[in-house]
Amino acid sequence: MTPLSRRSAPRKRKTFYITTPIYYVNDIPHIGHAYTTIAADVLARYKRLRGYDTFFLTGTDEHGQKVQQAASKKGLDPQTHADRMVVAFKELWKRLTISNNDFVRTTEERHKQVVQQVLRKLQATGVLYTASYEGWYCLPDERFWAADEVVEGKCPDCGRPVERISESNYFFKMSAYRDRLRRHIQQHPEFIQPESRRNEVLGFLDRPLEDLCISRPRARLAWGIPFPFDPDYVTYVWVDALVNYISIPGYGTDPRRFAKWWPADVHLVGKDILTTHAVYWSTLLMALGLDLPKTLFAHGWWTVDGEKMSKSRGNVVDPNAMAEEYGADAFRYFLLREVPFGQDGDFSKTAMTTRYNSELANDLGNLFSRTLTMIERYSGGVVPKSHPKAVKAEDRRMVAVAKSLHRTVGEEMDRFAFHRALREIWTLVDFANRYVEKNAPWDLAKESKNRARLDVVLYHLAETLRSLAVHLFPFMPTTAQRMATELGWSTSLEQALKPQDFQWGRLKPGRPARKGSPLFPRIEPPQRIMVQETAAPATPSKEMVMESTSAATSFISIDEFRKLDLRVGRIVAAEKIMGADKLLKLSVDIGTETRQVVAGIATKYAPDQLIGKSVIVVTNLKPAVIRGIESQGMILAAGDKTVEALATFVEPVESGMRVK
Ligand SMILES: [Zn+2]
Repeated sequence: MTPLSRRSAPRKRKTFYITTPIYYVNDIPHIGHAYTTIAADVLARYKRLRGYDTFFLTGTDEHGQKVQQAASKKGLDPQTHADRMVVAFKELWKRLTISNNDFVRTTEERHKQVVQQVLRKLQATGVLYTASYEGWYCLPDERFWAADEVVEGKCPDCGRPVERISESNYFFKMSAYRDRLRRHIQQHPEFIQPESRRNEVLGFLDRPLEDLCISRPRARLAWGIPFPFDPDYVTYVWVDALVNYISIPGYGTDPRRFAKWWPADVHLVGKDILTTHAVYWSTLLMALGLDLPKTLFAHGWWTVDGEKMSKSRGNVVDPNAMAEEYGADAFRYFLLREVPFGQDGDFSKTAMTTRYNSELANDLGNLFSRTLTMIERYSGGVVPKSHPKAVKAEDRRMVAVAKSLHRTVGEEMDRFAFHRALREIWTLVDFANRYVEKNAPWDLAKESKNRARLDVVLYHLAETLRSLAVHLFPFMPTTAQRMATELGWSTSLEQALKPQDFQWGRLKPGRPARKGSPLFPRIEPPQRIMVQETAAPATPSKEMVMESTSAATSFISIDEFRKLDLRVGRIVAAEKIMGADKLLKLSVDIGTETRQVVAGIATKYAPDQLIGKSVIVVTNLKPAVIRGIESQGMILAAGDKTVEALATFVEPVESGMRVK
């Protein structure tokens, strides 16, 4: 080795570039916007914590027909309308402690210039052409539909009436990239996630891919970025919007900066805009000769109390109100804890309050406040010293759990499994709560000979809470900061948190710890609204039906129910069992392993009908031998004597997921 090579450039920090979609300013922000942005924020904070140089971009999409219409409805020009609407987004992100590094507005000069550059480049590459187009146009969606896609004169997407429009436009030869895109998706399983969405896009690409109309005649729509080489046209709003992912990190303006950030590590999107990202954006990037983003993750949608969220139902969840009522951190926690990221979820105040009270107020909040109370009471309000001689096996076990989070949480975060990452963190919360009970510091404090042991216990609890603050910081930054401050550890996590803080023992003894108000004051559960029957109903009411059923049912407690381990299983193989016409032998993948299950469903299903189906498996049933074959579980189906239907799922689900 030459001395020179040792002196080579300092090792470059790993980078992480994450984006949210830019949000349309024709409406105020709702839970869907908040969900994507919170998830992106958690990932961005997490990567910064792990030492990545991170760039987190969000913003607003301000051109297009819908914005123009929304503005004119209010008697405003579109720019004034956008200027007003953008405030609602910026204020919400502040309130939800979103740590974006930049905020792009598509009406900004820095963005518009790059969109025009992109158009020039596409033109020069020869992938644009003009053609006249006649088709059915959905005004609100700003898109054309083919004749066979239109349903009885209505848009197949939004159901509103379509209009017949004929016009000349610029087209991008998207069709030419179909095979290349398909290959890319097949060769890069991490590109489109979750897997169900990847399959959806591959399915879409099985059909012929059309070219993309990327212009709008100015005569019809003035509110857009003008074509640099044809003043009669403005840019199709989707092309305009997608370009933000490269315009802001410096495409065409700052090559060094652009090389640092591109390709993006993650584009987070809602599942409704997956195609525009996976297909339009990817093929445009190919035409520009740029790499595709590493991952495009499409998350699911929220219903509210089991119903689709809509203005007409009046059940739109206002993230501001949620942050007001529960605190931004609790709202952030709930959205990511309640539902596996990528799947649809249901929002209800009952579920929110339940998690808030049990997991935040009770598990975490109590652990924190009782620990600080004990430090105040038994240790004069300073974090005591741990005495190696008084350390026991259970202390070491807690340390081991705390240390293991670095790896386990990291693995789940890499998989976008926020709910599992939080579950991992809660293993430490639960361990620490049991540790308090088991070691009963209040008993140790009664006799001075136990002083060393008491100090060890209190130190381990304080350091565990410090460690929890580090792990919780990406999810609940305000709570983590309060914990760090009250433990006397750090008053500026945002600036000071380092990867080394994941290590055990960073809390120095002798620091004053001071307890503040509860981290999560308990919240009264929402009152159930009872409908009073004024007269005896002709048909039994819901309550009556429930009552009559309950009379015949013996109840089990929730704890008894929880003993059942129900999991999503995917049937990977199925075969008939010789001499038993009702039985099938199934191989069911339950995430962690493949189970052999004998099921009496052969009268209803042929084996090959079942391959790939997701079913509900009781996985902790004692194995039984049926016709000489071991059955390691049971699958759920409807029917009394004969099976009528297998219980399965409306949405694609991951094998091994808990069913409850
Ligand atoms: Zn439509």
